[in-house]
Amino acid sequence: MSKQIFVTEDEADILELVRLKLETAGYSTQGFTRAQDMLDRLQLELPELIVLDLMLPDLDGLEACRRIKSNPAWEHVPIIMLTARSDIRDRVKGLEFGADDYVTKPFDTSELLARVKAVLRRSGWESSRNVLNITSDFRLDFNRYEAWIRQQKVDLTLTEFKILQLLTRRPGWVYKRGQILDHLWGNDKVVLERTVDVHIRNLREKLGDYAYMVKNIRGLGYKFSPEKPEPEDGKDQP
Ligand code: CA
Repeated sequence: MSKQIFVTEDEADILELVRLKLETAGYSTQGFTRAQDMLDRLQLELPELIVLDLMLPDLDGLEACRRIKSNPAWEHVPIIMLTARSDIRDRVKGLEFGADDYVTKPFDTSELLARVKAVLRRSGWESSRNVLNITSDFRLDFNRYEAWIRQQKVDLTLTEFKILQLLTRRPGWVYKRGQILDHLWGNDKVVLERTVDVHIRNLREKLGDYAYMVKNIRGLGYKFSPEKPEPEDGKDQP
């Protein structure tokens, strides 16, 4: 099953070059020389990614990008803009309109291919991150703000869930109390760092057997790691 990519470009030779490169790399492609044709096609099927030229005869690429990204059914499809304009403002606008990346013409098709791969990797990672299976019976649902352990929903407060969300973003990464506070309440420094400890203590209590995954790094902060504690900790050994 090869991933489908829509390529929208009115210059026929560039369109062919891009399609050839992508197909040689194992993707299947559909080519469009007009933005409207591509938008019509989107009503029928969704590709994994869209390569979209900025300068098109019928509709500005930015406008096409805006339409795709403002449609809830299409917004998750990543877009890479092709732009001949060296004007930085156009690129910024493209990214503001939701484009995921851009390549400036003239470009090397290998560079475009590398960007395509990177964007697909990122979007696949992000969508799979909506549900994180930490173990076979411990999972986090980031869309619903829910934690589940052995088919049971864990009764976490929003603050506790957000701490878990932050820590699991980078397993093994140590977050300082101040960073956790920033994540929870922005720069509202009225809240004491000690509050973090209280929330973490409550969170751990609710995680039961999995409490060990939220680790205190003395003098630094906290980290999430599914690894069992070292033997000298003397508990939870297999
Ligand atoms: Ca063009």
